[in-house]
Amino acid sequence: MLDVKKIRADFPILSRKVNGQDLVYFDNAATSQTPQQVIDVIVDYYSRLNANIHRGVHKLSQEATDAYEEARIKIQKHFNAAQFYEIILTSGTTESINLIASGYSTILQAGDQLIISALEHHSNIVPWQMLCEKTGAELKVIPMTLKGTLDMQAYESLLSPKTKLVFVNHVSNALGTVNPIEEIITKAHAYGAKVLIDGAQACPHIKPDVQALDVDFYVTSAHKLCGPTGVGMLYGKSELLKALPPYQGGGEMIATVTFEKTTYADLPHKFEAGTPNIAGGIAFGAALDYMNGIGMEAIASYEAELLAYATAELKKIEGIIIFGEAEEKTAVISFNVGVQHPYDLGSILDQMGIAVRTGHHCAQPIMDFFEIPGTVRASFSFYNTFEEIDRLIAGVRKAVKMLQ
Ligand SMILES: *Cc1c(COP(=O)(O)O)cnc(C)c1O
Repeated sequence: MLDVKKIRADFPILSRKVNGQDLVYFDNAATSQTPQQVIDVIVDYYSRLNANIHRGVHKLSQEATDAYEEARIKIQKHFNAAQFYEIILTSGTTESINLIASGYSTILQAGDQLIISALEHHSNIVPWQMLCEKTGAELKVIPMTLKGTLDMQAYESLLSPKTKLVFVNHVSNALGTVNPIEEIITKAHAYGAKVLIDGAQACPHIKPDVQALDVDFYVTSAHKLCGPTGVGMLYGKSELLKALPPYQGGGEMIATVTFEKTTYADLPHKFEAGTPNIAGGIAFGAALDYMNGIGMEAIASYEAELLAYATAELKKIEGIIIFGEAEEKTAVISFNVGVQHPYDLGSILDQMGIAVRTGHHCAQPIMDFFEIPGTVRASFSFYNTFEEIDRLIAGVRKAVKMLQ
């Protein structure tokens, strides 16, 4: 059992008032809140350690470098990567995906095929479309079902020796569906294809073991798991990362530079050009410590209770339509009520201090599938409470009445 009251005291923002009411923060799938323990690490960095890393001989630079590299080891351990240099620190999921897409533009050829899924976030669609335009490779899409799951039979029929890469999110940010990534990976490998899993929405709830999954690339952002914005990671199997060209040129990523030829640094620095988000990287490590201190399993089981309760209570509202009813879901509910526009519902909830997301959630193809402009999305975290869900339900009922 979680001591939610004690946990909430770690998050200063949760005692804020919004529009005169206690804040109810249900937009965790867009970004999570930050505990004092992580805020303290950022303040400590700028108060005590601030220096550029990997190059200074002076004390501050050495201490900052040690703290940054310790964070990389924490990330390595959390995801169970075999080597620390298989963890590339990036500005987030979006940059991690673009790094891989950019690298593969030199490897793919016309006629090669890529597979993505109908459940993807725009950041796991657009870079691959750009890659296809550059290389002449072809993009195939695993269709989705009415329940909001992937059609796995269709997936099998899309796979062929032409398939080079498969990109699927571990959890859909719009619907909360947990995708069967073990099966997706095994089947792709049978055809020699490599797999990138977008874990941005999974990592706040699930602790992936990249070696057990045998996944080729796994990407995530710190800000969805209690860390700061603007930092994230790319895990890649070392032999695959070594085969890819650098992403950006600049400082940090070189071994030697002359005007005739530059040689590149070893992993991970080959992919880390320029001064990184040093405080952010250190705070990413602190965020993982914080989550692990509570326990990922305890987090997942408490959030499952919140989801079950909210789903049951929402279903009592007349005209409610819930999108995405996969058996395996994280604590995300996408819904509409009758013909009410999600934006109107969301705005009235905001007046009551309840923060939800409205719109297409960066997943327009999913909205097109259901033939809707968008949904209201409430996404829960381990610091949310059953009382807050009661406020959401009461708020939705009141909003619907006001709109009629
Ligand atoms: C949030 C999210 C992203 C984008 O993450 P950024 O931190 O904005 O780069 C990508 N995919 C999924 C599934 C997400 O939930």
